[in-house]
Amino acid sequence: MSSATDIAIIGAGPYGLSLAAHLAATGLSVRVFGQPMHTWRTSMPEGMVLKSEGFASNLWHPDGAFTLKDYCAEHGLPYKDAGLPVPLETFCAYGAAFQKRFVPMLDARWVTGLDRDSNAFVLRLDDDEIVTAQRVVVAAGIGSFHYTPEELEAIKGPLCSHSIEHHFLDRFVGKQVLVIGGGASGVELAALISQKGGHATVAARRNRISFCGPPQARSLLEKIMAPETGLGTGWRSTACVAAPMLFYQMPRDFRHMVVRKHLGPAPGWTCREEVERNVNVILGARVARTSIRGDVASVSFRIDDCTEKTIEADHVISATGFRVDIRRLRFISPGIMEKMDCADHTPVLSPHFETSVPGLFMLGVTAANNFGPLLRFAYGAGFASRRLSSFLARTASRRSATVKPKFAAA
Ligand SMILES: Cc1cc2nc3c(=O)[nH]c(=O)nc-3n(C[C@H](O)[C@H](O)[C@H](O)COP(=O)(O)OP(=O)(O)OC[C@H]3O[C@@H](n4cnc5c(N)ncnc54)[C@H](O)[C@@H]3O)c2cc1C
Repeated sequence: MSSATDIAIIGAGPYGLSLAAHLAATGLSVRVFGQPMHTWRTSMPEGMVLKSEGFASNLWHPDGAFTLKDYCAEHGLPYKDAGLPVPLETFCAYGAAFQKRFVPMLDARWVTGLDRDSNAFVLRLDDDEIVTAQRVVVAAGIGSFHYTPEELEAIKGPLCSHSIEHHFLDRFVGKQVLVIGGGASGVELAALISQKGGHATVAARRNRISFCGPPQARSLLEKIMAPETGLGTGWRSTACVAAPMLFYQMPRDFRHMVVRKHLGPAPGWTCREEVERNVNVILGARVARTSIRGDVASVSFRIDDCTEKTIEADHVISATGFRVDIRRLRFISPGIMEKMDCADHTPVLSPHFETSVPGLFMLGVTAANNFGPLLRFAYGAGFASRRLSSFLARTASRRSATVKPKFAAA
């Protein structure tokens, strides 16, 4: 069976859903594929709270309708623009409600293949149905980009996994769990495992864990010195939020460096007490050796390059983050991959999110090296969906397959 559409969106997270809500008003035929908020519902630990403040945790409608605040008011849930952490559960339920309201035509099937023939893009769905589309937006999020360092790859399997593999934490009750990575996902996961009744150890390469501070009343001067934005406080974040198109014009190496370094791995203040009371923390630790003996994983660390310490655990979790590498979006055909200009394995995009394959667009974290750190967070979905939806509507009649996108200088 096959069917056709003007625009296909792959992925129904904050970016895919916000773009679909914007396109609904354009009269273009749009299909959206993927399970709503799937990454948030399956790959983030239960009990987690968002690091983004309430006002920065919205999905986006062109009229600004149905914010997280509106959803919380409708359901009698506590909400504050800032200072009251948003539970993961609330954010997932809000995303699902947003989808039902504004993207009811969502097709929950997975896209298993994306290719192009002479007339259109060809999408294969998980039941082998074929859909053709004139233009495709990939909003597939972070799920494919989890990174495990080589030294842990050797023990990956039943006793060693990546943090993205854990939503339910019941399996760790009463177990020794070693979490490797002192960033937000590692430290917060260790705290949640400990709260569940597991015995968690965190090993971090740095010599201290820098928690974000709790919200505090700020003087006018402090607000001027470090303004509050959807990416946190400070002038650098302000620039990232206010001027993604200026960021786009910067030299490539500068852009990539800022995306790598801005907003480091600070865990949220909400887990600090649990970590300080109940989590074993090893600092200055680099993995030296790993082994498996029976049901036990053993990891030896070099501590500050002088001593060694070995931890044995029932399970090791590599909370070592994400590295965007477009080759890991395996549903994209080699033919399309070959034609896509990339820098550091991330797509080089036009000012309207178009790749060098005409008609193929990318949003979210895969676009961050072009438009800045804003695109790594749900907050950036407002800018991205406004800009891309108006471009798609404007260019609907001249079918982008025949128009070469323009790019910023490398
Ligand atoms: C532990 C953790 C905590 C975070 N906390 C925050 C936070 O507090 N605030 C914040 O703004 N950001 C946070 N982030 C970043 C977050 O990932 C992004 O903000 C957000 O998910 C971006 O939305 P997205 O739509 O690009 O991606 P996603 O939410 O990942 O959505 C992409 C969707 O595409 C689907 N998909 C992928 N491939 C296919 C396919 N082939 N077919 C169909 N569907 C497909 C996926 O299943 C997924 O549901 C956090 C990330 C992590 C790992």
